[in-house]
Amino acid sequence: MDSVAVRLDRVRASLPESVSLVAVSKFHPAQAIKEAYDAGQRVFGESRAKEVADKARQLPADIEWHFIGHLQTNKVRQVVACCNVIQSVDSERLLEAIIAEATKQQRHIDVLLQVHVAEEETKFGFAPQELAEASQRIATATSSADCPVRVVGVMGMASNTDDATRVSDDFKAIRRCFDYLRSGVMSVRPEFAVLSMGMSHDRDAAIAQGSTMVRVGTDIFGEREY
Ligand SMILES: *Cc1c(COP(=O)(O)O)cnc(C)c1O
Repeated sequence: MDSVAVRLDRVRASLPESVSLVAVSKFHPAQAIKEAYDAGQRVFGESRAKEVADKARQLPADIEWHFIGHLQTNKVRQVVACCNVIQSVDSERLLEAIIAEATKQQRHIDVLLQVHVAEEETKFGFAPQELAEASQRIATATSSADCPVRVVGVMGMASNTDDATRVSDDFKAIRRCFDYLRSGVMSVRPEFAVLSMGMSHDRDAAIAQGSTMVRVGTDIFGEREY
């Protein structure tokens, strides 16, 4: 297998300049993250509270940690303490818990709203209609000037299938949610600009549908052992 640095360079070279890269390091050791860090990568994605807390303690302080897994409210404290971005906000209740905790810890947190369109991949996320209905309340909850939480965009996953039409339709549906919010309740917020979609196997299809951020694990770090 090629080194992490070589794989990282290959992934980077494949991305248009407008697309940013989250290196998904879940289940991989701190040493692998350090290799990517030494090759210039600063943004990493993790999906478990304890794992990201442990890694953040061991690794350089200028890493930007993105939480991308399902987040239970009893883990919010741990995640807010070490992460910069929470991409997997899938309920208003979770958003409220993040705002309360960020206020208490005096930490600035950016969040993405997770949209669920895929057939089976995950049961988490707002259904598009649900998100539309919640959008005004979400905007209001984060509108005060001293709110430590900014809603910066939308995250989603496509169905895990070889059916290319289905995958691209899923990305289109996520993109429509993003556009709906951006041209609606979020239109006065220039920071609402992130469309996080695309993983190792489907990032080209996601980019074709307007992704501005891909989350790539396997193509950088190799297969995960669960
Ligand atoms: C694990 C994970 C990824 C990365 O997946 P790869 O197929 O390894 O690139 C991206 N997004 C989310 C939400 C994940 O859980």
